[in-house]
Amino acid sequence: MFNFNLRLLRPDATSMWVDRVLERLKWYYNVMNGWKPAKFLICKKVGLDDVKLGGYTFDELLNLHRELSGKFSKLFNEVKNGKLTLREFNGLSSPKTTYLDVKVELVRNIMRSCYLCEHRCGVNRYESRGIMCRLGLEVYVSSYFLHIGEEAPLIPSGTIFYGSCNFRCVFCQNYEISQLRPYDGIKVNSKELALIQKHLREEGAININHVGGEPTPNLLTVLESFKYLDVNVPQLWNSNMYLTTQALNIILDVIDIWLPDFKYGNNSCALRLSKVNNYFDIVSRNHSIIYQNGDPIIIRHLVMPNHVECCTKPVLSWISNNCPNVLVNIMDQYRPEYLVLSKSSEYSDISRRPTYEELRKAYNYAKELNIAYEEVSR
Ligand code: SF4
Repeated sequence: MFNFNLRLLRPDATSMWVDRVLERLKWYYNVMNGWKPAKFLICKKVGLDDVKLGGYTFDELLNLHRELSGKFSKLFNEVKNGKLTLREFNGLSSPKTTYLDVKVELVRNIMRSCYLCEHRCGVNRYESRGIMCRLGLEVYVSSYFLHIGEEAPLIPSGTIFYGSCNFRCVFCQNYEISQLRPYDGIKVNSKELALIQKHLREEGAININHVGGEPTPNLLTVLESFKYLDVNVPQLWNSNMYLTTQALNIILDVIDIWLPDFKYGNNSCALRLSKVNNYFDIVSRNHSIIYQNGDPIIIRHLVMPNHVECCTKPVLSWISNNCPNVLVNIMDQYRPEYLVLSKSSEYSDISRRPTYEELRKAYNYAKELNIAYEEVSR
């Protein structure tokens, strides 16, 4: 029933599966259709029987993670290339200690002096809350539902909005959950989060979309939820990509499709408008890592008024030089919100919508660079 309604509401959700989209999102497409297992399920088939992680030092955990990453790649490639059928994969037994368990243990360690993201607060999240994300161990879900406003290949998307964020964007459209009232949602543990994901999949979600706010500070509970999740569904990371390389390396083998945000073409616009340091260096580094991993990616770029030359063009140039085979959503929906409205003189450059001319410039530039954007930009 939902799919029938969807065809009426968003006909592009089916018509957009043309060759250049399929070839870029192939892994995701296969998992979405239930033809391949999601990566988190593969992680649960890789591990060791004779290992107890309790006594491991952080370095020993890292070594083990490296070792299991090799085993994961082997199994993943067998599944991906069809050398192993889904049936054969499902028949594999799970080891007592899995690759996923090692990932969870590593994140627990990192959170004792937190550096999940590049703010590197160094806070013990077991005792107090992070300086920028304002989260300890608790996870708040503001809402979850089947989202039909996302990019065409993603809908209906089982979207989970986490409360709080590690950015302070002055124009944030979700400022109520990300900045003003981050604890307003329901508090969930990992089992409850798994149940939410299962419910969304059973209701028709073709992926689970972790977003916020920002999902990164909630990484521990998200990873733990995969231990309990027993339905096959692609995992989507919808993030500002301000993770550290350590955190990114941990989730690289569990995410089936990335929906990263790439807003600013330089560090100074990011510092002024989102209050983060070294934005461009960090976010471009992380885009390179996920691209080199061969993962499906849809990059989101929001066109902001008066920021076409300093942000849109450098971002699109960088993408074309470094990630030429991704899809890019060039977003036209910027509108002044939050502090841009209350402090309009301070943020006068972004106190209006982008003009038709600015948007045209962005699209034409993407076209010149041969960037694939039409199918996912609305
Ligand atoms: S997730 Fe980022 S903002 Fe939150 S405590 Fe860790 S380093 Fe700080």
